[in-house]
Amino acid sequence: MSRSVDSGLVEIPDLGPAQALERVRDGARLVDVREAHERALGMAEGAIGIDRSALTAQPQVHLPDVGAEILLICQGGTRSRLAAQALAAQGYRNLASVLGGTSAWEAAGLPMVRTDIDDDFAERYSRHLRLPEVGLEGQRRLQQARVLLVGAGGLGSPAAFYLAAAGVGTLRLVDDDVVDRSNLQRQILHADDRIGMSKVASAAVAISALNPRTHLEAFHERITSANVERMLDAVDVVIDGGDNFPVRYLLNDACVKLGKPLVYGAVHRFEGQLSVFDAGRHRGQAPCYRCLFPEPPPPEAAPNCSEAGVLGVLPGVVGLLQATEAIKLVLGIGDSLAGRLLQFDALAMRFHQTRLAPDPDCVVCAPGKPFPGYIDYQQFCAAR
Ligand SMILES: [Zn+2]
Repeated sequence: MSRSVDSGLVEIPDLGPAQALERVRDGARLVDVREAHERALGMAEGAIGIDRSALTAQPQVHLPDVGAEILLICQGGTRSRLAAQALAAQGYRNLASVLGGTSAWEAAGLPMVRTDIDDDFAERYSRHLRLPEVGLEGQRRLQQARVLLVGAGGLGSPAAFYLAAAGVGTLRLVDDDVVDRSNLQRQILHADDRIGMSKVASAAVAISALNPRTHLEAFHERITSANVERMLDAVDVVIDGGDNFPVRYLLNDACVKLGKPLVYGAVHRFEGQLSVFDAGRHRGQAPCYRCLFPEPPPPEAAPNCSEAGVLGVLPGVVGLLQATEAIKLVLGIGDSLAGRLLQFDALAMRFHQTRLAPDPDCVVCAPGKPFPGYIDYQQFCAAR
């Protein structure tokens, strides 16, 4: 047993995890003072969980016998010692802190008690599970979520990778294109030996290699007014990774009609922009894309990547910001970009934010206005 001395405080003996386990088996009380979201990942066998703040505020409520042998454990050994000092100051006489905490206990292969999550889940998402804002409940929400990603290209690639890594349970990916060598400068889902393969099949290879827990629903087709509602069915969040006007207007209109949040992103040369359009769920409060741009620009004013060129990393930046917004929307945390347009200038390395207000006369999202029906977006865009 080693003894640690903290200035001005009572000496609290440290016990190694194996010694602690022996003492517990001999009748010592083991108290895990971590917070509930941390304990949800698993506790040392025999431990009872009491948040440190609750324990030190009213120790007698939880541990009435001040003479009993009490061992305290946290994640790494610091909080347990602080808790022990607080208890010592309140008259507890037989205290010890587990050296290295639950991390050392687990590393030593000592028995753990887990909730109903499996080891793969606990280990894979451990850095999420330690965040109170995500935790076990949030991670389960991600697991149950279905995100529609339209386009497995420059924006869709980083978004799909990170959504899968983060533990989104189902990714629905729609893209009718095949992998071309010129895509590989930015579309990191794909690889040189998959040139010629459909992008959704190539994406399935990459995603399943990264996280086999993520289920991929792959549609090798173009999204049109005929299939858009089928594609949005049972989806929690829609990410527009298409970066072209017909898809953008179609997704906007469908998301307003069906009440789905749309994470919009676009890139051009060295600049990108993104927003969240959530008018379908917040009529008259949040804008839709058409509040901003009621009609598409003329085609000559709106070249796509293949015509204008794009810095390879740029869709990476914007696609990851889209993935960030999608994850926040699923978790219901933070402030979404709804009502704000975020613009990024890679050359100047600057972000600029503009407030967006809903248009009270918007043809699609104005409150009380009936849905005008889908239009032929290809022709609508080509004609302008
Ligand atoms: Zn609108």
